Amino acid sequence: ARKAALSASTGPGATSDGHKVPLLANVGGPADVPAALEAGAEGVGLFRTEFLFLDDSKNAPSEEKQVEAYRQVLEAFPVGRVVVRVLDAGADKPLDFLTPADEPNPALGVRGLRSLLDHPDVLRTQLTALAKAAEGLPVYLEVMAPMVADRADAKAFADACREAGLRAKFGAMVEIPSAALRARSILQEVEFLSLGTNDLAQYTFAADRQVGAVSRLQDPWQPALLDLVAMSAEGAKAEGKSCGVCGEAASDPLLACVLTGLGVTSLSMGAASIPYVRSTLAKYTLAQCERAALAARAADSAEEARQAAQAVLSGE
Ligand code: PEP
Ligand code: MG
Repeated sequence: ARKAALSASTGPGATSDGHKVPLLANVGGPADVPAALEAGAEGVGLFRTEFLFLDDSKNAPSEEKQVEAYRQVLEAFPVGRVVVRVLDAGADKPLDFLTPADEPNPALGVRGLRSLLDHPDVLRTQLTALAKAAEGLPVYLEVMAPMVADRADAKAFADACREAGLRAKFGAMVEIPSAALRARSILQEVEFLSLGTNDLAQYTFAADRQVGAVSRLQDPWQPALLDLVAMSAEGAKAEGKSCGVCGEAASDPLLACVLTGLGVTSLSMGAASIPYVRSTLAKYTLAQCERAALAARAADSAEEARQAAQAVLSGE
């Protein structure tokens, strides 16, 4: 029992019956790597590269500066996966050289992948820097785009990755309901999905993630959000591909069990949450997680969903 307890606090993420769910860290740059290693992260599930760009909103960082920062993160996880997200600018993270100044509704405007497709030079430099940073390292590099709306977006991103000579897996974030609804279509162009539940909640409920007055609708336990997660995971499974979660939802230990039950294949979160998620997941079987997920989806509110999942997992 002591050995089991020890492995539950340090080993790879898994349910009590051994269904593996890699636990990965969300990082903003090399400074976050020590905490991720300390928490036993099995890799990086979301490297938010925009932090490198926010120092200077007038110019993109040089290719050399980018190579250096990417390499430091890639070197820290020589055997794990590192999922790098290309620049996600706009809305709450505007950049002068990318973001249109006069948009009436920036969250619905040119942001994320849309900005990069409008500025192919910025995307090309970033992808080239990533290719150089990964050169000679045994790392398992994955690169994904934020705010993918449809198959055309996914194709444009995958084409740009191929043109930059990137040897990596290319993926799409599911942050817009259209992407969850058409997960299989998007997976004709890319090799994996990663759910950004913060933005997915924002766009599903038409509730600005920065406006406290609508925070009730930002609750990731909302059954409608769980439905979209399930739809994405089922689409990925049907295509034989993976579908992780890298939004805040993954850091709630009980919800992590529900996400696992919905078919999500990896969970990425702030490093501080990893030990709690690991030990909670290790208490339940995959079948229990699946039952908790069904109970949560059958609920009519976030609070009921949470209670229903808790009741299933505590055997009530
Ligand atoms: C998300 O939207 O859930 C996400 C992971 O991306 P960010 O929080 O950086 O927008
Ligand atoms: Mg997002």
